Amino acid sequence: MEKICVAVRVRPFAAEETFNGTFWKIEDNRISLHRPHGTPVSGLSFAFDHIFGEGCTNATVYDRLTKDVIRAAVEGFNGTAFAYGQTSSGKTFTMNGSDADPGIIRLAVGDVFEKINMMSDREFLIRVSYMEIYNEEINDLLAVENQKLQIHESLERGIFVAGLKEEIVNNEDQVLQLIESGEVNRHFGETNMNARSSRSHTIFRMVIESRAKDISCDNSTSDTIRVSVLNLVDLAGSERIAKTGAGGVRLKEGKHINKSLMALGNVINKLSEGAKQRGHIPYRDSKLTRILQPALGGNAKTSIICTVAPEEVHVEETKGTLQFASRAK
Ligand code: ADP
Ligand code: MG
Repeated sequence: MEKICVAVRVRPFAAEETFNGTFWKIEDNRISLHRPHGTPVSGLSFAFDHIFGEGCTNATVYDRLTKDVIRAAVEGFNGTAFAYGQTSSGKTFTMNGSDADPGIIRLAVGDVFEKINMMSDREFLIRVSYMEIYNEEINDLLAVENQKLQIHESLERGIFVAGLKEEIVNNEDQVLQLIESGEVNRHFGETNMNARSSRSHTIFRMVIESRAKDISCDNSTSDTIRVSVLNLVDLAGSERIAKTGAGGVRLKEGKHINKSLMALGNVINKLSEGAKQRGHIPYRDSKLTRILQPALGGNAKTSIICTVAPEEVHVEETKGTLQFASRAK
């Protein structure tokens, strides 16, 4: 698998919406804008590793795009999977899913435990944390009192969020309960739950540590202990804030979001250029990229799912999302 895998997912039309204007046509791994009667709009055709149309389930997205990242994490490689797109395009649906169609996070957690239960030659320790970045401030979703946390770096721990709660977990149910309590904490005191969540980045993290059970018989010291970090990220909505004529709080939020998404785009773009041309990678330009740094680049595996809305009114935002996706290839 390539280290950075990029996919686009087009959600179904919402109920009551009719489809009679320009539309995005999917052919294999290509998506292109077409006029009402079917002629393609020149210059607006993009190819990616995968394109998921409206009939695709989260399980399909997981199997084709993210599973390898999760499997590698169990074997000791860092990994990051994130959903990028405008508000209402399907990021949360993809990451969290529903009871009928569990999202990437649930599928990943299930897969991690299934895989480690099969690796009887190793002992595992799994720790989970859950945080949001809102207005460039890091808040712990597993402990409401932990607000405005700082990022530190040390020789021993590398880059870490100081004071962030890490819960040791032994099974899938424990993780799901933690996520649920995290969701409750996140909305604490919020009048409009959905609005806040679309303006913050949410990072669900699993640290997977393992050691070989029997180290007496060989000399494989380098591989006796493995530690990997897996980040599953639901990003803030990528829509351009200026267009909505926002002021005050909204404007401030929008500036922070644009800054960190731009930083993420720049980092991913540099990484996709390959080691030679790459040069400096600007991880320090935002808290988001700094937190993801250990699991973005190097040996880490990354999968990016860019979600788009099919409606004609969203064509401009969709173009922006596809351009972001293109820079990641
Ligand atoms: P975002 O997190 O990007 O703001 P949501 O995930 O909340 O967007 O999706 C917006 C709405 O569209 C929700 O009602 C969600 O259930 C629905 N939706 C999104 N993607 C899909 C999909 N692939 N299939 C069915 N419904 C979807
Ligand atoms: Mg959302």
